[in-house]
Amino acid sequence: MVIHDVIVIGAGLAGMRAAVELAEAGLDVAIVTKVHPIRSHSVAAQGGINAAMNKADSWKDHMYDTAKGSDFLGDQDAIEVLCKEAPENIKELERMGAIFNRDDKGNIAQRAFGGAGYARTCYLADRTGHSMLHIIFEQVIARGICRYNEWHVVEVIVEDGVARGVIAIELLTGKLHRLHAKAVLLATGGYGRVFSASTNALSSTGDGMSLALRAGAPLMDMEFVQFHPTTLKRTGILMTEGARGEGGYLINANGDRFMHKYAPNKLELASRDVVSRAEQEEIDAGFGDDGCVFLDLRHLGEKKISEKLPQIRDLAIKFEGVDPVKDPIPVKPGAHYSMGGIMTDIDGKTPIKGLFAAGESACLSVHGANRLGGNSLLEAVVFGRRVGRGVAKFAKTAKLYPFPEDALKNAAHGIALLMNREVGESASKIVDGVRKAMQKHCGIYRDKKSLEEGLAKVRQLAAKLDEIALVDTGDIFNTEMINVLELGHIVEISEAMLLGALNREESRGSHSRSDFPTRDDENWLKHTLVYLEDGKFRVDYKGVSITRFQPEERKY
Ligand SMILES: Cc1cc2nc3c(=O)[nH]c(=O)nc-3n(C[C@H](O)[C@H](O)[C@H](O)COP(=O)(O)OP(=O)(O)OC[C@H]3O[C@@H](n4cnc5c(N)ncnc54)[C@H](O)[C@@H]3O)c2cc1C
Repeated sequence: MVIHDVIVIGAGLAGMRAAVELAEAGLDVAIVTKVHPIRSHSVAAQGGINAAMNKADSWKDHMYDTAKGSDFLGDQDAIEVLCKEAPENIKELERMGAIFNRDDKGNIAQRAFGGAGYARTCYLADRTGHSMLHIIFEQVIARGICRYNEWHVVEVIVEDGVARGVIAIELLTGKLHRLHAKAVLLATGGYGRVFSASTNALSSTGDGMSLALRAGAPLMDMEFVQFHPTTLKRTGILMTEGARGEGGYLINANGDRFMHKYAPNKLELASRDVVSRAEQEEIDAGFGDDGCVFLDLRHLGEKKISEKLPQIRDLAIKFEGVDPVKDPIPVKPGAHYSMGGIMTDIDGKTPIKGLFAAGESACLSVHGANRLGGNSLLEAVVFGRRVGRGVAKFAKTAKLYPFPEDALKNAAHGIALLMNREVGESASKIVDGVRKAMQKHCGIYRDKKSLEEGLAKVRQLAAKLDEIALVDTGDIFNTEMINVLELGHIVEISEAMLLGALNREESRGSHSRSDFPTRDDENWLKHTLVYLEDGKFRVDYKGVSITRFQPEERKY
């Protein structure tokens, strides 16, 4: 057994930013991550990070745009922290060495992003996440922070309402380990891979959320998942919103721009839920081409495309066979971001003592029913730092409670059952079924009948989990076994999402019910909470923090 003061699960931007604060506070912190730190999904972030850096802009305007973008479901106390602390966090990253594009005067350049009243997205071409994650990783290395790379956490250990540590599998050997600590911080990213078409890394399977749920913590607003308007036709790879921020258009199969019909003021730069629905309506009305519309960058010219959007060009050529300098790129909406997550307060605390969450896996909630582009890297950094400081304060005075005797034995038993089953169901077939069901029944448009069908399908597939047999029964790098563990999370997350979506009889942000097409503040201005108790889901609700901006009709 290893012992640390604090264990951070996840080496994305949120986890590593928090770990740096914990080390600065003089604590013994360790990071556990199932992929190498710089393969965390944060590295794939393209378009940029928001902050009101310019005198003509203000954190209050940023806050208003974020609250409006969230369709007024975001908690405004948390949004205020996000927007107020944004500029100092960017400057801090800059001092650490993060590279940003510059304007003529040498200041950090900012581009326009969807749903924003001001061009406030700082960026490095279309590789912003890459720049930021590498810089934070350097800070982790510089402080000698202990890392368990390619260790997959299988259980968060909670006894008598207190987190005691985790159990993880070391991928290289297949060995199970106990990691004992005073506090556990979950920073495990999103659940985009619950869907078959997603921009997310294969590792974004919602593990931390489902581990927290099993440990007794509630998940919040899981029905809200963002569909990004521009993902490649064949692979679902992201084409950043920065492409529209730089002046790219959307056109239908007839070559006509269509956003004026759906968002007459903001056009292509309306918020993502609005643009995704507009595309789907064009496609459904017969103006699409084989389920797609097109992102047209041709008028930007080769120089600008190569300078500002080099990765977009490269990805479009390699994965779609289309050079954006010469041809429009076929795109469709794809699952991109998880607004829902582990319910926490503004300091990242869950209701379980010693268990915290930050980044995309947490739900504070700053994004409410729809996230604005550029606000998520920001959340990872601002709340990574803030929650890191909060956990440090907690861990300095907290006691190390004993690690339950039988925890390791129980975890080993569950894995042995899976490894020793000689005949049974194929995990890949089950995961495929769940993803297809979620895509079909819990996508951009939803209704009662379809959601009920989706729930029945997912439950049917979930019943087969205990019958899975593996082809690979070896110990070393058994990724098939890991995929089965992830499937367990995917199934739980899917059920929580479907339940939240089925109960929420209104349309708000990314959640569009064709049978309840309008927002209903009287009955639904509240967060959905999902608990798992004795193997059964229970749904509850919680009020929204509204401080500065009263809900109003949302128009772009
Ligand atoms: C293609 C793409 C482009 C994006 N572009 C932007 C953008 O331009 N601007 C913006 O604001 N946002 C963007 N986002 C969103 C943003 O990048 C993410 O929300 C953010 O980076 C998430 O950071 P994180 O630290 O919370 O999680 P991640 O970076 O996803 O890291 C999760 C970590 O958890 C670990 N982990 C998970 N499960 C386990 C387990 N069971 N055991 C051990 N470790 C585990 C993983 O190994 C990983 O280290 C983009 C997202 C995508 C997918």
